[in-house]
Amino acid sequence: MKAAVWHGKRDIRVEETTAPERAGPGEVIVEVALCGICGTDLHEYTEGPQYIPLEPHPLTGATAPVIMGHELAGTVVDVGPGVTRVKVGDRVAVNPLQYCGSCPGCRRHVPAACERLAGMGLQTRWGGFARYALIKEYQLVPLPEALGFVHGAVLEPASVALHAVDQGGVRPGDVVLVTGGGPIGQLVTMAARAAGARAVYLSEVTPVRQELAARNAEPTQVLDPTRVNVPQVLREHTDGAGADVVFECSANERAFADALEATRKGGTMVQVAVFTRAVALNPAHLTNFERRIQGTLCYLPGDFERTLGLMVAGRLPAERVVTSIIDVDDVVERGFDELIRPDTRNAKILVRPVPTSS
Ligand SMILES: [Zn+2]
Ligand SMILES: [Zn+2]
Repeated sequence: MKAAVWHGKRDIRVEETTAPERAGPGEVIVEVALCGICGTDLHEYTEGPQYIPLEPHPLTGATAPVIMGHELAGTVVDVGPGVTRVKVGDRVAVNPLQYCGSCPGCRRHVPAACERLAGMGLQTRWGGFARYALIKEYQLVPLPEALGFVHGAVLEPASVALHAVDQGGVRPGDVVLVTGGGPIGQLVTMAARAAGARAVYLSEVTPVRQELAARNAEPTQVLDPTRVNVPQVLREHTDGAGADVVFECSANERAFADALEATRKGGTMVQVAVFTRAVALNPAHLTNFERRIQGTLCYLPGDFERTLGLMVAGRLPAERVVTSIIDVDDVVERGFDELIRPDTRNAKILVRPVPTSS
């Protein structure tokens, strides 16, 4: 089968690989319909390896070169012994996390804290940028009748957004700021509104992204940090207080400073984007205002189902972040290279491992 394989930094190849033959105990084979390109994938392409193992992974034994892709939806085509939750023909989305089940993180029921955590499409043999993927039964999320594969393919990033909003403790009536208007910033905007925020401001530097974010996520107002003082605007809208919760979704140092300054006394700033280097932080900006900085990573068991529920109810229109669907043959030129262009008009690109014509 054809697959997009990470061989090294700036070296992703579409090549022939062997398909999984049959599902073992507790496993299924999914025929992938669509798989999204994620910011994490872009990091692996431009600066990797970040997560991709060069030594055999402690849980899965996988090592580069690996098939990429972890935001996938498709159809079950084979089920192994003991599988009860799905049958052949079921449409599913996939939680990409594989975990050991016995370490301290797993015992606290936080798979993302597993000491041997393996993200599919990075640290497993099989990934979503290929026709077939071998997946654990526990990773599957059956898709409700009302939702299609596009919804399924954006379920993972939408669940990241939902968990971030949980971590921020957004309450009905809160005023929220999101810094960064990429797919995650857009999804966090939607999720904050679904959690009852009365106003969600979004700051974004690039004109194209300002436009995209405004159309897709419909924030209360889009702010251009090159033209306005973002913390000051937030204070003006909150009787001088500042935002109740701020989500930093850009991994930009200036946005990080704005995000903290825009957080009200006693408020919470959630760091969502993954910085690849250190930034300056004056701890007095925490002490003097009793602010918290909260990290967030992935999601908890159950978050995918909650996110699906919001999507079915029309309260989290996550599919709006999708700007194009391409064939796997074009994944480098029209996918990775397109998304790293500063002037890209794309937000979330989905990849079709099998062209619809075949
Ligand atoms: Zn992702
Ligand atoms: Zn574990």
